[in-house]
Formats: sequence, structure tokens, C-alpha cells
Amino acid sequence: MRALIISDVHSNLEALQRVMDDAAARGGFDAVWCLGDVVGYGPDPEGCIDLLSRQELVCVAGNHDWAAVGRIGVEQFNDRAAQAALWTAARLKRDHVRFLAGLALVERQGDFTLAHGSLRDPVWEYLVNRDSALNTFSRLTTPYCLVGHSHLPFLCRERDGVAEFAPFAENESVSLGASRMIINPGSVGQPRDGDARASYALYDSDEGAVTRHRAAYNVPVTQERMRRAGLPEHLIWRLSHGR
Ligand code: ZN
Repeated sequence: MRALIISDVHSNLEALQRVMDDAAARGGFDAVWCLGDVVGYGPDPEGCIDLLSRQELVCVAGNHDWAAVGRIGVEQFNDRAAQAALWTAARLKRDHVRFLAGLALVERQGDFTLAHGSLRDPVWEYLVNRDSALNTFSRLTTPYCLVGHSHLPFLCRERDGVAEFAPFAENESVSLGASRMIINPGSVGQPRDGDARASYALYDSDEGAVTRHRAAYNVPVTQERMRRAGLPEHLIWRLSHGR
């Protein structure tokens, strides 16, 4: 079984389409595991939901998904994120609202647990330090956990009660072995690790490995659509820089 692992698509259909094409060219996938924030920031919320809905999909809710359907307010968002969330909410049709509102906070697939931020606080917590990683390990009932939210790809292994973070490099293949692990595949639609290309991972159950990849997409196409939609200039700018 092969799963395409994606997170933080953020209504960037151009990037999502390229990631799916890239993954198809690398041997394809049987299922899509999405770690939340399908919408928010970008210009194509309906297109991204429609494309994902046509896949064999397991998807958890992110903070932007809930904000777009009113399950949380936008008070905790910065001004630009709030503006984009309200823009998204205003254009979603009933089916899209139903899709987003129906997403669970945590899903389990075989040896993996999927959540957007962390297992302590799936919608909001950024899993970026040892404290948050150890807390998620303490709640983890499967060997491996997949998270997004920070838009930063990483690996975090549990060894002798310690959480060890390591970079998850492009084209790096990590073997799933004895130690438990938290994996972040990076962001499809708004990378923040200084690389503008979309980031994702592929899980292959025969190989027992997860591999991270990057896919270059046509950033100006997304940016032009954002400009036409009147989305904040900073959100447009940052896609060129991967930050
Ligand atoms: Zn996000």
C-alpha cells in the first residue's frame, strides 16, 4: 500500500495538482492522507476540496478548516489569516462546508495516527519542541504520528524517553523501525522552510519507509488568482519565498 501524505494545502490547487502528478510519476499511491488546513490563505478552496474528495482520502481538520466553517472564530488569527478565512467562508458551497465541518480531529490508519497540530491540541498546538513532542508521544497509541501545522518538514524520534528532532531532507527515505516517530511532511500550498516548492511525503508499506519529496509548481499562477481574489499582498508575496 502506498499513501500520499500531504498537509497545509491552503487552497493552492496549482500546488496540489502538481504534487499529485509528481507522486503519480514516482509510482503512484492508493490513498491520500491529509493532515489538515485544506483551505485558508489561497484562492481555490472549492477546487482543492473537490480534487481531494475524488481520492481515497483520510483527512483531519486544521485550524483554517474549522475557521472557514465557523467552528472556531478568527480572533486567534493574525489579520491576514483572518481576512483570508472570511473570504474563504463567504464562497464555500454547502457541500464544501459539509466536507470541512465533518473532518475528525484525529484519524488512525494502521501504524499511523494523523493530526493537524499535535495530539494534545490537534487544532492549535505547534509541535516544534521537545515538550510538545514528548506530550504527543505520551498520547500516541500507534508507532508513528503524522502532523502538519508548522509547515516545517521534520522527523522526531523517541529514544529512551527523549524526543530527538532531525531535519527531513528532500528525497530522504526514513525506514520505520523500532523507535516511535513523529513525522511532518511540510506544506503543499504555503511552504515556510525557505523553499517555494511544494513539500510532501510518500509512505510505502512494502518498503516500510516514508520518503519526502518536493514538487516545483507554477507559483505565479496561484499568485495571480490570489491577486484577482483580493487576498492580502503579503500572502501572495510569501509564496515566492517559501516563508
Ligand atoms: Zn497551515
